[in-house]
Amino acid sequence: MDEPDRAIGSIPDRGRSRGVTAIDCRRSLLARACIVVLCLALEAACSTRPEPETATGRTASIAAGQIGDDARADALVDPTLLDPSILIDIRYATPANFTGVAVYPVARCLLRRDVAERLLRVQRALRREGVGVKLWDCYRPFSVQLRFWKLVPDPRYVAEPVVRDGRPVAGSKHNRGAAVDLTLVDGLGRELEMPSAYDDFTERAHRDFAGASEKARRNAGRLEAAMVAEGFLPLPTEWWHFDGPGWEAYDISDEPLN
Ligand SMILES: [Zn+2]
Repeated sequence: MDEPDRAIGSIPDRGRSRGVTAIDCRRSLLARACIVVLCLALEAACSTRPEPETATGRTASIAAGQIGDDARADALVDPTLLDPSILIDIRYATPANFTGVAVYPVARCLLRRDVAERLLRVQRALRREGVGVKLWDCYRPFSVQLRFWKLVPDPRYVAEPVVRDGRPVAGSKHNRGAAVDLTLVDGLGRELEMPSAYDDFTERAHRDFAGASEKARRNAGRLEAAMVAEGFLPLPTEWWHFDGPGWEAYDISDEPLN
């Protein structure tokens, strides 16, 4: 349907009709001014939705609503702005990660829109069961991957970034905004028991590790089942890591996190 918009902006302009008096005209202008003021007030109220607080106490810097502007499947969007019940604890924005230093300037999760929307559906399904997700890592700029490699040049722990003819040609799926590291939390935001800590680069992190407690294995299995139901691909060696389907279609990016 291509009907003209009948919203406030298209109120008929009475001032153009014949026989209108000066008083009518002033009233008309006054009414329009009131409508404009009202619109501005309403718009301000709608755009002051509280920004989600991160685990480090900072708030996401992107303005609420901005994420809706770009509908492309490969746009990088913040899932916590689309669903503030999603918790984040971006470890690479703190020294509490395997490198021992903060390598991100902000605690922020960005994912390709299609990947983010799948994650929202995972969260909706989990919330119906009284649990939810906490995100540890999402999009990672390529320059950070280079830094990881400089700190830990070991392919067992870090995907080697490769640059050819000045362009990144290989790296981590996180560099494509198509991978997410996450765990499960209960209704109070407390992490559920899992087979290992995050970034435990031992066999404890493997999905087939049988040495974990029954509860931990059940929780990891629950996370995996919820993610797989929305098409995510589990990494066999890290129970917390999942790739979005079709990750190959997304470019390796160096757009900064801010
Ligand atoms: Zn990962």
